[in-house]
Amino acid sequence: MSHSPSTPSQPLSLIYLDANATTQVLPQAAAAAISTMETLFGNPSSSHISGIQAKQIMDKTRKQAEQVTGAGQGKIIFTSGATEGIQTAILSALTHAKKSLDSNKNYTLLYGATEHKAVPESLKHWNEILEINATVKAIPVDNMGQLDIDFIAKEVPNALMICTMAVNNETGVYQDIALLDNTIRANNQDVAWMVDCVQALGKQQLDLSKTSIDYAPFSGHKLYAPKGIGYMYVRENAAFTAFIAGGGQESGLRSGTENLPGLAALSTIFSMLLGESETAFAPVETLHLFRQQLVNALTQAFPNIVFNHHFENSVPTTLNFALPGFSSKEIMDLFDAANIRVSSGSACSSKVTRSFVLDAMGLPAWQSESAIRMSFGPAMSQEEIDNACQRIAFAAQALTQSCLTLDEVNTNAEVITDKTELDGLIQFKVGGSCTWLYVDSLSKSAVIIDPLPEVAERLKTLLNCRGLTLVAVIDTHGHADHVSCRENMETEQLSDQQSDSLGWPENTPCLTINGIVYHYINIGDKWLLKVTTPGHTDDSISLLLCEPVKDSTKPLSVHYAFCGDLILMGSLGRTNFPCSSATAMYVSLQRLNSLIGPDTLLCPSHDYNNEFTTSIGAEMSVNSLLAQVINNDIYSDDFALQKARMDKNIIDEAGSEIMCGALLLSLIHISEPTRPY
Ligand code: PLP
Repeated sequence: MSHSPSTPSQPLSLIYLDANATTQVLPQAAAAAISTMETLFGNPSSSHISGIQAKQIMDKTRKQAEQVTGAGQGKIIFTSGATEGIQTAILSALTHAKKSLDSNKNYTLLYGATEHKAVPESLKHWNEILEINATVKAIPVDNMGQLDIDFIAKEVPNALMICTMAVNNETGVYQDIALLDNTIRANNQDVAWMVDCVQALGKQQLDLSKTSIDYAPFSGHKLYAPKGIGYMYVRENAAFTAFIAGGGQESGLRSGTENLPGLAALSTIFSMLLGESETAFAPVETLHLFRQQLVNALTQAFPNIVFNHHFENSVPTTLNFALPGFSSKEIMDLFDAANIRVSSGSACSSKVTRSFVLDAMGLPAWQSESAIRMSFGPAMSQEEIDNACQRIAFAAQALTQSCLTLDEVNTNAEVITDKTELDGLIQFKVGGSCTWLYVDSLSKSAVIIDPLPEVAERLKTLLNCRGLTLVAVIDTHGHADHVSCRENMETEQLSDQQSDSLGWPENTPCLTINGIVYHYINIGDKWLLKVTTPGHTDDSISLLLCEPVKDSTKPLSVHYAFCGDLILMGSLGRTNFPCSSATAMYVSLQRLNSLIGPDTLLCPSHDYNNEFTTSIGAEMSVNSLLAQVINNDIYSDDFALQKARMDKNIIDEAGSEIMCGALLLSLIHISEPTRPY
């Protein structure tokens, strides 16, 4: 069935589907916060009436928190958020454990492999600060995201602390708390157990005092309260060490003047959770219906969508999926254009963009790299879900109209002529690897460089739907990290053309520059010039898209240099394969520089940091080894020695992408963004 949502004529309202990152403050919660700032602004520790009024708000909020959490005799301590709760729990557990450490024993600190980074990082931090020297170990999960119970049973006897989560922030996968409780306590009565309940609040019934959980952190901003307010549950008699000392607030357990506006807002949210308010949250059955509606809309819009988690063990408010052939950045951009906020389910880290949560679940690399998360909260309305579904259909239609997907109904899609002309350079990314497509709109011809199999369908769709003639499909070298789909594309699109092992057509014209013969092909009114640039591999070439050469004694006018793995952004291609040669790379770098100079745009076959292109000049400013080669400040043998040292930094993680060059450590640091997860 074709879907043809009408094109909205008004500016699109925002549809926020990123509730697991943070939520908007509900108007009634904001009003409560404002009232404590303007009217009931007292300090709960003051003994005058303003102070007493403030204390009443605080006491009420605490009572509600106890109810919502099922705290029983356990304590509720207000904090700035979950990260503080996590610190407090870990500091408390480890300070207590330190008192009775046996120096002959090897201890562990266990955490779920899909835990929010705040947990393992805090474990490592306090383990070091307190000089506990325990081994910090991740508990594996299965492909449904479920913690390995046998592993826990085996490892927990030696554990000082075990940290698990109620609901995962990337996938919504929830754990079986009763099973964990039984397993942990059957094997270790004393181990401190923290359960991160941040993503469970408002989505699951909580009754913590019925479990042996010692600590549970919560965060207000994940459920419509402002940032800066949170709370933690501490089981009765659980060890406790104050993380913040001072004026003795919170019975001395957490000093610092209380965040009254935050507390008042949180109280409003609790009233809604407890059904004490006029406005109520959607019941869980409704949330399931909302999820089903979104799933239907997504599946209809993107028939080959793959969901990255099982719905039967996930809360209904989180959907994590991938679309074959599309990077998470492209889908994010698509949704952004439709004014729908979603997030990429992968950590855009310095290396490759992938999700450690989905990796831990053993999902295929492409799913982890291109994951998208849609999440909503219990204040979601039917109207918003309806709008979101309509907008999703609209976004999918935009993909078809721009020739990025085929119209499922009209698979023999005619050549589309009324579209904005496609012209110039397009990068397609899969993980850190790139395919480049160059289109000359006047001659309707195109060339593809380093075609990745994951984008083959999209490339074909684009060529057919735009009526483009493929002139050549060329690899810059034999790739070690992925299979090229060049041969398939050649067979399908260029069956009459004979070419060499990288796809360079036979019998191409040539010219001589400085005594070296270069072959070229025509792409519209431009030339694509082949330069042999061995080093990374012995068959490596670079391709220069340039103006036709009229006088070979004059500098070339190069628009783009497709340099394969010779120069990577922030690195040089690795030269530690059997077919590599660092000394050959030295010559190639100088050759490329002599042809293109410092400012030509380089288009390497990897883009680990989403930088799109670079230039030799830009790379020289961050890569001193390259600068030395270009400036003739280093001999080829010394370069080879330094290059070997650089290649030692390459980390080839099992199951992840083979890195084609060691990223310079200084750059890794700079480019690591913080993510609101
Ligand atoms: N734990 C989980 C599961 C989360 O999703 C988050 C939010 O990023 C945190 C902990 C940290 O919470 P906060 O932002 O309140 O410090």
